Amino acid sequence: MQAYLDCNATTQPLPEVIEAMGSCLRERWANPSSVHRAGVEARHAMELAREQVAHLIGCAPRALTFTSGGTEAAQRVILGAIAARPDRPAIATSALEHSAVRELTQSLESRGTTVHWLRHRPDGVIDLDALDALLADHGRSISVLSLMWANNETGVLQPIRDVAARCRASGVVLHTDAVQWVGREPTEWSTLGIDALTASAHKLHGPKGVGAIAMRAGAAIESILPGGPQELGRRAGTENVAGIVGFGAAAAAASAWLAQDAGSAACRSLIATLERAILAAVPDAIVNAAGSPRLWNTSSIAFPGLEAEAILLLLSERGVAASAGAACSSGSLEPSPVLRAMGLPDPVAHGTIRLSVSRLTTSDEIDHAVRVIPACIERLRLSSSASARGSR
Ligand code: PLP
Repeated sequence: MQAYLDCNATTQPLPEVIEAMGSCLRERWANPSSVHRAGVEARHAMELAREQVAHLIGCAPRALTFTSGGTEAAQRVILGAIAARPDRPAIATSALEHSAVRELTQSLESRGTTVHWLRHRPDGVIDLDALDALLADHGRSISVLSLMWANNETGVLQPIRDVAARCRASGVVLHTDAVQWVGREPTEWSTLGIDALTASAHKLHGPKGVGAIAMRAGAAIESILPGGPQELGRRAGTENVAGIVGFGAAAAAASAWLAQDAGSAACRSLIATLERAILAAVPDAIVNAAGSPRLWNTSSIAFPGLEAEAILLLLSERGVAASAGAACSSGSLEPSPVLRAMGLPDPVAHGTIRLSVSRLTTSDEIDHAVRVIPACIERLRLSSSASARGSR
């Protein structure tokens, strides 16, 4: 038995996605900018996909720009907003962002851009009073505020609608990295009041290497990659038609799932069931940000005193795929900047693993994980206390 609980890293492409991409590569491989019939057919396939993704997000098809993924999409918005407003040289973001945003802003900061790091509460939700103060003092100098909707490591949700109202009042472009949100919750773009939202196909059972930006008409965001008329001049380069078609098929399936409440309710309880069972079997386990509003599919769970890497390797041997809130660099496992920014003590951050499901996760996979995870923790605890005794 295998349990794939790493859906925030990526999700399995749906059969209809694979089929749509295969038939596109076989039959719609022409350049969508070409005027001949084959080109027009490729363009039609891409425009159908644009409608499907737009429907999932709730925006007009024209509001969408396809990109090579969530990373490019977010960076394109941030750099495009900075380019559009030279009179507003500063930007704002949180320390809790995915590296796609965090490392871009750190690099901008190291080259002289003023970055206002948003204050957040210990539960990982940004502090709206501190945001009010920031915008009152510096709002006129900030071109763009980038704040993720759902955190990829903890699932913590940010109050995007409240932030949108504040940014609008200050004339600050608001970008939300919604890579972990889109396809898992309704997005309802038209009621959000934000300037740009970015998404990625492979988090919703689509292909890797394709993403999208939804942008408000008239938003102060410039195109930063000239060189061709594609995507209404907003992103030059021949489009990844098969990837976009796969994104469309994945978006259509996600829209159908979101429209069915019963299907959603069963999935929504999977992580809660898993957390309850782990906490009952491992009393000192800690669910990080347990009290915060969280995405239904993500659990960041700590086993203090253990190393996440050791836990993941043993889980993998026993058929459970999960990941850590950490990046393995030169052999040492550093706690992730997100867990650090949330102020978790080192033994908690080092022992944190991430379990993430999707709507395709089965209750058998959860049952398997419930059997395996506590047993692995017990075994690791026994071997670490045996080696502690041995070293005395
Ligand atoms: N933003 C978030 C929140 C993510 O979780 C990820 C991927 O893990 C990305 C951005 C980057 O997306 P992509 O892999 O499509 O570049």
